Amino acid sequence: MAKSSTISIVTVMLKMKRTLIIGNWKMNLNTSQASILVHRLEERIKNHTNIEVVLAPSMLVLQPLSTQIDRRKFRLAAQNAHQKDEGAYTGEVSFAMLQDIVHYAIIGHSERRIYFHENLDTIRDKVAAAVRNGITPILCVGESQTERNAGETKRVIHDQLVTAISNLTSAEIENMVIAYEPVWAISTFGGILAKPDDIKKVMDYIRHQVSELYGKKTSETVRVIYGGSVDDHIAGGYLDIDGCDGVLVGGASLNYHKFSGIVDAANRIHNKNGDEQNGR
Ligand code: PEP
Repeated sequence: MAKSSTISIVTVMLKMKRTLIIGNWKMNLNTSQASILVHRLEERIKNHTNIEVVLAPSMLVLQPLSTQIDRRKFRLAAQNAHQKDEGAYTGEVSFAMLQDIVHYAIIGHSERRIYFHENLDTIRDKVAAAVRNGITPILCVGESQTERNAGETKRVIHDQLVTAISNLTSAEIENMVIAYEPVWAISTFGGILAKPDDIKKVMDYIRHQVSELYGKKTSETVRVIYGGSVDDHIAGGYLDIDGCDGVLVGGASLNYHKFSGIVDAANRIHNKNGDEQNGR
């Protein structure tokens, strides 16, 4: 195949990436509250071909929501699951049990690393378990304020990323999502607003690491998104970062005005970038 046609296929593949908007509801909303929120979101969010909206409710609410959601508009994500497929692990739910209900699973969230002491090996095993069961991992990586102040951001990201994906093939990595979530920017841990220029540097570093280990195609195909106190007013600044494929939203995803506003911002940016590429 001629080089120019190979390049144009890659360009088309990159343009075809849908922007990911993920709402992490954390340990909020019982079954009826969750149902009401989905109803409100369905009224406001259109069926966009260029945007993928993912909701991550509590474990309890996943099953009833899976029968309520309009699947043309929403996909579901688990916030966590156990790395073993079955066995004597009282109180746990496995990825194997979730495979018919969710498309995605958030793994390595800083709240799980900090409050539940999930270490690098546990997170690597959870990523492998998700993939083994046909669930796409949304791997969260990010440094703490102390690590940032000590100039350790790259080391922390390197260790978290390289360990977590070490059991995966290039094709499996291409299908996954990496969320850069600096701990200091998450609302629960300080909520300092990160500058898009600083975020871009770390996102570029993430792709560079993937490229070094798994090649350029994998690094360009894997989706890299940002999370940390994103709301409808500032989402555009992050979604406009070159190479940013979406946002992971915590607090603001519980508010249907804010969350649907973030989806609107993603749509505006997608259309603007499409216009620019087409020279309009
Ligand atoms: C999160 O929990 O992943 C998150 C980004 O939270 P918040 O948007 O509230 O900072």
